[in-house]
Amino acid sequence: MSVNSAKEMLVVAATRGFAVGAFNITNIIQMEAVIEAAVARRAPVIIQTSVTPTKFLRPEVIAAAFRAVAESSPVPACLHLDHCDDLALCKRCADAGYTNIMFDGSKFDFDENVRLTREVVDYCHGLGDITVEGELGTVTGVEDQVRVAESEAELCDPARSLEFVERSGVDLFAPAIGTAHGVYLTENPKIDFERFEKINKIVNGQRVIAPLIVHGGTGLKPEVVRRLVALGGAKFNVSTDLKYALIDATYEYISTHRNEYNPGKIDIAAKRAVMERVNYWIDMLGCEGKAELAGGDRCGTAASQNGAAASA
Ligand SMILES: [Zn+2]
Repeated sequence: MSVNSAKEMLVVAATRGFAVGAFNITNIIQMEAVIEAAVARRAPVIIQTSVTPTKFLRPEVIAAAFRAVAESSPVPACLHLDHCDDLALCKRCADAGYTNIMFDGSKFDFDENVRLTREVVDYCHGLGDITVEGELGTVTGVEDQVRVAESEAELCDPARSLEFVERSGVDLFAPAIGTAHGVYLTENPKIDFERFEKINKIVNGQRVIAPLIVHGGTGLKPEVVRRLVALGGAKFNVSTDLKYALIDATYEYISTHRNEYNPGKIDIAAKRAVMERVNYWIDMLGCEGKAELAGGDRCGTAASQNGAAASA
């Protein structure tokens, strides 16, 4: 059994100086690719779905597929709902078997964000080991349903970050620090490292209460990613990168095999391309070989059983 609570995994990451990749997927091929790459590198991993593919594929189908893939894998894995501002969908995903829910109340004022996030936290914690991510400030760009103009962007106020975490009860905290969704329009986006460091000290200075999450991983330079990991970033969200890998590989394969009608071969090409990108992120985040560490006893048991089976 290697399906884990995201908080458990990310507290270890935050205290041991690495981060876990959280990859947005839109189909089963991508899900398999992400988990297979993580298994090959013995890295903990998070599968995410944003709202539109979650509704399209249905939470129950995604959760069932995830469990089938993840439970037999010797690395700790989570299933996360990304950027949802719909309470009913948050609850439906929690009921269906998602291990982690992000309620994105960043478009609301502070108190309303706290109130709605708290409702999701109470529901998810009531069901057991389901953890919740909240966001304060606004991450710019395009993320599925959530569209924010850059001019509307506001960064997370460090002075209110601990109050947000304590009052909402979130397990994971996503402060807006200047990263963006989609593709960065400038070569050097202005990332507020000082703000991020300050927030981490305020929230997690004594002990890790709510590991920090970095949104908009795609396109960040390696030195930016490594600096954010060093400053306490425990989960990096990667979405656009995998979309490009999937679509470019599919297009390229079909273009060069125009008379071949074999969907399985297209899937293999797409899967390879996605695995390549996951490998790139595992290198950058420093999570290779961290499966046992991040998975606790549950993963240790599954890992040694699978390891024994694999070497037998
Ligand atoms: Zn995001």
